[in-house]
Amino acid sequence: MRVLKFGGTSLANSTRFLQVASIIENTFLKEQVAVVLSAPAKVTNLLVAVIENAKKGKNTTDYFVELETIFNNIIVGLSEANSAFNGEKVQNLVDKEIEQLNQFINQILETQDCDDQLIATIYCLGERISIEIMQGWFEAKGKSVSNINPVENLIAEGDYLESSVDLVKSKKRFKQLEIPENNLILMAGFTAGNKLGELVLLGRNGSDYSAACLSACLNADYCEIWTDVDGIYTCDPRIVPDAICLEAMSYQEAMELSYFGAKVIHPRTISPLIADKIPCVIKNTANPVARGTIINDHINIDSMVKGITNLDDITMFNISGSGMQGIVGMAARIFSTMSKANISIILITQSSSEYSISFCVRAKESQKAIEVLNKEFQQELEQQLLDPIELIQDLSIISVVGDGMKQSKGIAARFFFALAQVNISIIAIAQGSSERSISAVVPKNKAVEAVKSIHQVLFSNKKVINLCLVGIGGVGSCLIEQIKNQKDYLLKKDIEIKVCYLANSKKSISNKDGIDLSDWKIQLEQTSKPFDFESLVAFVKQYHLVNPVFVDCTTSQDIANLYTRALKEGFHIVTPNKKANTSDYNYYQQIRENARLNHHKFLYETNVGAGLPVIENLQNLLAAGDEVECFEGILSGSLSFIFGLLEEGLTLSQATLLAKQKGFTEPDPRDDLSGEDVARKLLILAREMGLSLELSDVEIEGVLPKDFAKNKSTEEFLTLLPELDQEFAKNIEKATACNKVLRYVGSISNGKCKVFIKEVESNDPLYKVKNGENALAFYTHYYSPIPLLLRGYGAGNDVTAAGIFADILRTLK
Ligand code: ADP
Ligand code: ASP
Ligand code: MG
Repeated sequence: MRVLKFGGTSLANSTRFLQVASIIENTFLKEQVAVVLSAPAKVTNLLVAVIENAKKGKNTTDYFVELETIFNNIIVGLSEANSAFNGEKVQNLVDKEIEQLNQFINQILETQDCDDQLIATIYCLGERISIEIMQGWFEAKGKSVSNINPVENLIAEGDYLESSVDLVKSKKRFKQLEIPENNLILMAGFTAGNKLGELVLLGRNGSDYSAACLSACLNADYCEIWTDVDGIYTCDPRIVPDAICLEAMSYQEAMELSYFGAKVIHPRTISPLIADKIPCVIKNTANPVARGTIINDHINIDSMVKGITNLDDITMFNISGSGMQGIVGMAARIFSTMSKANISIILITQSSSEYSISFCVRAKESQKAIEVLNKEFQQELEQQLLDPIELIQDLSIISVVGDGMKQSKGIAARFFFALAQVNISIIAIAQGSSERSISAVVPKNKAVEAVKSIHQVLFSNKKVINLCLVGIGGVGSCLIEQIKNQKDYLLKKDIEIKVCYLANSKKSISNKDGIDLSDWKIQLEQTSKPFDFESLVAFVKQYHLVNPVFVDCTTSQDIANLYTRALKEGFHIVTPNKKANTSDYNYYQQIRENARLNHHKFLYETNVGAGLPVIENLQNLLAAGDEVECFEGILSGSLSFIFGLLEEGLTLSQATLLAKQKGFTEPDPRDDLSGEDVARKLLILAREMGLSLELSDVEIEGVLPKDFAKNKSTEEFLTLLPELDQEFAKNIEKATACNKVLRYVGSISNGKCKVFIKEVESNDPLYKVKNGENALAFYTHYYSPIPLLLRGYGAGNDVTAAGIFADILRTLK
């Protein structure tokens, strides 16, 4: 004998109903089958809503329409699938149920009240109807059906909405039933009867528990729970799509996982099965060929952790006070008070000094809990032996569960590391006495991120980078191209980069699973969604993107001003934009402070020398105790190119025009020739070396005389530029005569920064640097007298994008 339970999603519509019927029929070919059904998906929630609205005197018509539509569609679908199915008869039964419901609701609307007994009767209407429809289906197929009334046979104790089955009494009742061997057994889930013969419920999602009790009462060989997933996964597959379906687990593991929130089975499902060692199998109605997960008494300690769970809507109570050590039996009083009020305590922690006790209950029971606690400890609170009882709301309990955890070391460390990685503050910690579980209490809005991060640390080598890129000009587009091309290469190294958000100054596109990069330009053209930072933050929060990386490929000061905020919101920042690092020194420090406090990275390697490893090398040198005595460098690719051409005999205007034509300058070459860009780079280096300077402290000698071609257009400027050629040619001649060349140089010396045209001697490391190359010479204690020289292309979309790419990967470290 096999008991098969089908959940709401398995009965959501006629197609699913037919799948269920076929699974039942196929199993029945081999052995006798008893079936427990839930209500079709949504139905119980609709009934809850109907009552809530009726109690408030509100109109409930819409809910009735929705309920009737769900049932009608199923009946119509089944009638079409088999003409022998007596749809009319079943529809009449449904109509009667709905009519009865209508009367109840009118009664509630009148009194605006509804007791738990009536609520129980209403809540399980869906289960009754599921059974009526299934009975009609099998009768049409000529099968004999035994419809077991759970109110008469499944005897339970407790209140109307959440009772527990008394297996001894129930088994006796079932013994009296004479069910012919050839009959298909049907029983509505969720429902039982108390000793007075009144209908009671087994708690929300209680049909799994009904099936387990039925298995025990019928002494079944197997209890199968059919649902909408292939089995029990390492965590909720809706949270982590990469979760792994488990082949097997022990009864204890399954109990612990469901107790701590794995919704796939109701927490009470396992205990009725243990005494008779009835195996429980979790199967997928939509994919019956999948093996499923078997739960039995076999303990396998090979894998240390089986699963990760989150139990949401938790409230924590802290009871503490200086007088607590002196109060005898404090813990016992707290727990018996809770127990008398029928409130279950989910998790407890006590400090070893006995100065405080903390425990968690479900949020819906917290009001009642505080009332009974305040009453119980009224005297102690008045005498100030206890501090006012503290409540922390909106929490979740995150747990890792596994039989093998007892033997293994380091799970707790990895568990807490994973929480720290996503910057989650832990409110309390508890380890199950069986050492089969470790739990942490965290803010509810962080629960999904916690599960994702722990799953990644414990089960997957794969590291995921969620990228949000703003600025898609030359460098940004090139970065996208590189990411697209390197996807497979990185996947082989267990790194997945998802570009989840892309924006220019006007528009944005987003996709939590990663934007399809093959046509991002078209997608961006077609969207009308504007870019704004608040909606980006909301998007990241909505989909719980873990450790998102904000990449700023703009040159905008406004975007740079968002960095401190972005770090607070949990982003890493990677940027070639120099504006933030050259804003006032106060903001410069604030960014670093926020990065430190939030344990997130702020990476800007491409601020100086594009892809050249400047910042990291400098930081490493300083960390190793070296000191920079002075610095001199060619920091502008455009000016390196222009000055190289001057040496080859071109005039300043010819060289500038050629550089512009080749795309080596900014659209307006004055932006390069003004020296401001070099000054910014120099300031960034100086600040890195510990100098607290401002941009205005950098002495700039531009290539052009001050105010040259002021207020003129680029074209006009270019036509005026030859005016300077002669003067420039003279300077070059003078330099050449002494065997020197002119270079546009940034220098840091004696705490001062200067940008100027320098006559460079032939033994200077900058002498040969031209053609757009950058060169940075660090004269330090360790590198003396020959400086550390970093040299290579310091501009260009490819090298800059590659430098940003490297920073993006560095966020994983
Ligand atoms: P049913 O309607 O069949 O009773 P439920 O919605 O109650 O189905 O339970 C199935 C759901 O449980 C799955 O869709 C899944 O999202 C969720 N779930 C939570 N944790 C797990 C887990 N560890 N493994 C599998 N499913 C899980
Ligand atoms: N239909 C009930 C509920 O939604 C019982 C169940 O599905 O297990 O809670
Ligand atoms: Mg369920």
